[in-house]
Amino acid sequence: METTKYLLSEKEMPTSWYNILPDLPVPLPPPLHPGTGQPLGPADLAPLFPMALIMQEVSSEPFIEIPEEVQSIYHLWRPSPLYRARRLEKALDTPAKIYYKYEGVSPAGSHKPNTAVAQAYYNKKEGVKRLATETGAGQWGSALAMACMFFGLECKVYMVKVSYNQKPYRRILMETWGAKVVPSPSTDTNAGKTILNQDPDSPGSLGIAISEAVEDAAGREDTKYSLGSVLNHVLLHQTVIGLETKKQMEMAGDYPDIVVGCIGGGSNFAGLFLPYAGDKIKQGKKIRIIAVEPEACPTVTKGPYCYDFGDTVGLTPLLKMHTLGHTFVPPSIHAGGLRYHGMAPIVSHLGNLGIIEAVAVHQNAAFKAGIQFARNEGIIAAPEPTHAIKVVIDEAVRCKNEGVSRTILFNLSGHGHFDLTSYDDYLTGKLEDYEYPEALVKKALADLPKVA
Ligand SMILES: *Cc1c(COP(=O)(O)O)cnc(C)c1O
Repeated sequence: METTKYLLSEKEMPTSWYNILPDLPVPLPPPLHPGTGQPLGPADLAPLFPMALIMQEVSSEPFIEIPEEVQSIYHLWRPSPLYRARRLEKALDTPAKIYYKYEGVSPAGSHKPNTAVAQAYYNKKEGVKRLATETGAGQWGSALAMACMFFGLECKVYMVKVSYNQKPYRRILMETWGAKVVPSPSTDTNAGKTILNQDPDSPGSLGIAISEAVEDAAGREDTKYSLGSVLNHVLLHQTVIGLETKKQMEMAGDYPDIVVGCIGGGSNFAGLFLPYAGDKIKQGKKIRIIAVEPEACPTVTKGPYCYDFGDTVGLTPLLKMHTLGHTFVPPSIHAGGLRYHGMAPIVSHLGNLGIIEAVAVHQNAAFKAGIQFARNEGIIAAPEPTHAIKVVIDEAVRCKNEGVSRTILFNLSGHGHFDLTSYDDYLTGKLEDYEYPEALVKKALADLPKVA
């Protein structure tokens, strides 16, 4: 079998992140103040974020330097490998070429440390002592716990209660790196207490946990808030993925026709596709960029594109994005990282402009694809990127049926070593498909904030 792996040296790792904001053909709609409905100024965000990140959120610089201390931590696992999936290609008997960028090589097992390390760095530099955040299944919490450890910051994680009880391993990761983890809703915040009063058995949701973490950070001088997806600066930090991939695809002598990734809040996929979206906008490259979401949480394919809160209680700024409504309580599917009610404003905007497209898939089909991938390529993917793999396989089969070769690239955002229960459920036939009902979408949308 020929070469299947493309590696860069540390010296070849990108030293800047790519910021798409100045290249957008139509400017991104601004975040609005929840009280006044007016566009936010930097000062409005200062209680929650360090100024360096607020400035990145609205920057018009196309490239932003990666600080040396961040680069040196990245070097623990970066540059990450790009693989050609030759064995999968052969099994599918497809003329398509399939490449994947593998982000499961980080110590936390996903792409999330790319932004966690950067966020911890900027907070530390501005004198912050403690970070508060939320986590669903624990990928983000564990990434931030590790990043805080590197910079000597305290880390408080509000973990969605159902995951806290059912999935102890990432909680143990967080605690091993020194973070304090509580099940959300908790009694540590007013937001948590309010929810518990209404529903003592609340399983929690990301939206609720965000309310708790935001309240925690806003109420303490020494603490800021940290978000693992959705915001512009998070997507910015993740572009190290796509910038590396471009160099690796050059080594392979290829350029993608189709770029695929899974979307929860949008950050891993944006990290891969934004540099290519830049090519599409500036050079007119003909690339299909396909975002894949679960049928059980169909934010882009079923949710309208409008202003909504990022959290359940309504403490955050209003973001223009695809949303299922901030009161959305997700059904318990296995891809914990894909269960957020909103979608990154940049990803939503690019979808609205027709630069990227979105599809939804069922979890049984996703796991089936994940197992086919594992049985050919070896790597056991996290449940989230199996959604991308499903669409990659469909596109590769289409190439075969049409008798054309296309180059398909996808982001393998993490490994599934802590998600093996969900593979077990699939293998023993216990996994159920669930399509989020149109009626529930309508109901949740009745609670949308009114903006002009
Ligand atoms: C969190 C997570 C996701 C979903 O979040 P995005 O911000 O959309 O990337 C996808 N894959 C993995 C492995 C994750 O941990």
